[in-house]
Amino acid sequence: MIIRKEFKFENAHIVRDCSTLRCSQNIHGHSYRVEVLLESNYLDDGQMVYDFGLTKLYIKEFIDSFDHAITLWSSDSKEYLVDMKKHSKRWIEVPVSPSAEQFSRVFFLVIDKILSLSTMNNKEKEVKLNSIIVHETKSGYAHCFREDAYSKNMGLIRLEDIIFSNQVKSEWSKKDFWSNILEDKELITPKTL
Ligand SMILES: [Zn+2]
Repeated sequence: MIIRKEFKFENAHIVRDCSTLRCSQNIHGHSYRVEVLLESNYLDDGQMVYDFGLTKLYIKEFIDSFDHAITLWSSDSKEYLVDMKKHSKRWIEVPVSPSAEQFSRVFFLVIDKILSLSTMNNKEKEVKLNSIIVHETKSGYAHCFREDAYSKNMGLIRLEDIIFSNQVKSEWSKKDFWSNILEDKELITPKTL
């Protein structure tokens, strides 16, 4: 069975080298919607695949890191990166261009890691991330499956190359969230919410 939870965030970017000049040459924003699809052949003690309340801590806060922020490609010009960081306190630097396709791959990798490191206290069983859908506009989205997230053809994404600004990090309720992700440390989830 597949279950689905939707999250939202507002974000700015430039998509360098794309065919549409408005997108490749201008900072602009989108109201993104992210669908997280989880799957399991089992139900927990609450007869659910996974209680969505459990996504509030790590998954929601991770996606919210991108809200009212600018996403920067680390291979963009040094001048642009310096200027953007000078004028925006909320930024995330990623090792790939911030297209909807790459957003969906980044979200897959991080949410997959969050699930694998999370304690599951209610007999959830074999809960896996099925896929991530990132809607950039009302009519356009990217749908990322596991093989896409880890695809060498699309460029390997190393989580240690994702950098969050201090203001973004300051809003996390678990300050060691990202270091736990990078060091494969357990993400403690309360038994009840
Ligand atoms: Zn755009």
